[in-house]
Amino acid sequence: MSLTVLMNAGPWLSVPPPGYGGIENVIATLVPELRRLGVRVVLASVGDSTLPVDELVSVFPEGQFASLQRPYNQVCGVAQAHLAGVVRELHTRDDIDLVHDHVEAVGLATLTAMGADAPPVLHTLHWDLAKHPALYGTLDGGGRVRVNGVSASQLARAPQALRDHSVGHVHLSTPLAVDADRRPRPGKGDHVVVLGRINPGKGQDLGARLAHRVGFRLVLAGPVGPYHRPEDLAAAGEEARQNPDVRFFVEEVAPYVDGDLVRWVGTVAGRERDDLLATARVALFPLRWEEPGGTAVVESLALGTPVVGIARGCLPELVAHGRTGLLTADEEELGELVLAASVLDPDECRREAVARFTPAVMAERYLTLYERVRKLAATPRRPAWREESHLTAFDMAGGPS
Ligand code: UDP
Repeated sequence: MSLTVLMNAGPWLSVPPPGYGGIENVIATLVPELRRLGVRVVLASVGDSTLPVDELVSVFPEGQFASLQRPYNQVCGVAQAHLAGVVRELHTRDDIDLVHDHVEAVGLATLTAMGADAPPVLHTLHWDLAKHPALYGTLDGGGRVRVNGVSASQLARAPQALRDHSVGHVHLSTPLAVDADRRPRPGKGDHVVVLGRINPGKGQDLGARLAHRVGFRLVLAGPVGPYHRPEDLAAAGEEARQNPDVRFFVEEVAPYVDGDLVRWVGTVAGRERDDLLATARVALFPLRWEEPGGTAVVESLALGTPVVGIARGCLPELVAHGRTGLLTADEEELGELVLAASVLDPDECRREAVARFTPAVMAERYLTLYERVRKLAATPRRPAWREESHLTAFDMAGGPS
C-alpha cells in the first residue's frame, strides 16, 4: 500500500523557491525522489508553488516572505493561518499517513497540540537548536510527534527534551551530486571561495584576514543582509547599518576587501555560482558558529572542490579530513591549510558526493524515518470529521473546489 505524506512547506516561499530559500530547496529536492519511490505527496505550501506533486493545498496564493520585514505583531498570524489550514485538512481527511513538517516552531507546536487528531508527524529541524529554548525544552509530542536534525552535531547540542523526540539526522543533499563523477573536470583557477550569507557565524572576516596574511586570492560570495549586489549596498546609505550583518560587513570584513586579493561579488546564482565554486582551489568555511547543515559544503564537494574549514558544527561529519578536505580547530592554522589542500584530489570529493549527498540518498533515509515514526506512534489516530460542508484550506485560497 502506498504511503501518503502531507509535506508542510509553510507560507513563506513557493516551492521551488524563486531565489534564496534553503528549506524550500530541500523540499523541492526531496519530493521528486519520494514520488519516484512510490510516495504520494500532498504539498502544503503557497498557491503559486510549481513543484509537481499529487495535490497542492494552500491558504496564501503566494509567498509571504516579504511580510517578515514587518513588526512581529503584524506578521505573527501568517504562519498560524497557514497551520490552521493544515489542521483543517487533517481534520477533514483520513488519507494522510504522515505529516512531514518543516515550519519553524509554529509547525511543531500546532501539530503537537493536535494530539491523536493528527497522523504521526516528523518535524525536520533545519536551524540552530539554541533557538526556541522554551518550546524545545518542554516538548511533549505524546509519542506521535518526532523530530530529525540535519546533522548529528546539531542534535547533540539540543535540549534534552528535544533529543528525546529525535529519530536521528538526515544530511542535506544537492542535485549537483547526481553523476558528479561523470561530469567533465573543469580547470581550477587560483581563487579560494567563501560561499554563504555574510554573517559573523560564517566568519568571512577571518577568511579575509587570512587571505592577506597567507597570500591567497579570496572571493566572498553571498548577500549582506538584504543586499545582493555591492552597488545596492553602496547606494543604501547609513540607514543600512541598522542590519547587524551590514554592520559586520562594513566594520569587520570591508577593511580587507581591496578588490584584488579579496573581493566581495555579492550573491551568485545558477551557472555563475556553480562555475565559481567548481573552479575554486578550495571552498573555505572559517566558521565561528556550529553550522547545522552545511548545504554549501556538500555543493562544494559535488563540484570537486575540497573543503577547508574550522572543525565545528557539521563539518567533521561531512568532510573526511585528509581525503575531501582539511579541518582544524585553530584559526591561524586555517590559512596554512588552504595552501596544503592543493594535494587533495577533486575526483575524490565528487565520488564522496555521489555516495553520500545525492537527493536519492536523502529520500531513502527519510523514508526509513517515516516508517520509524509511524511504528513509534503506537496509538491509532482518531478518525477525521469528514463533514461534507466543511470549508477546506484550499477553498479559502479561492482555488477550484
Ligand atoms: N548561496 C548561493 N549564492 C550565494 C551564497 C549562497 O546560491 O551567493 C546558496 C548556497 O549555494 C547554499 C545556500 O545558499 O545552497 C546556503 O545554505 P547553507 O546551508 O550553506 O547556509 P545557511 O545560509 O542555510 O546557513
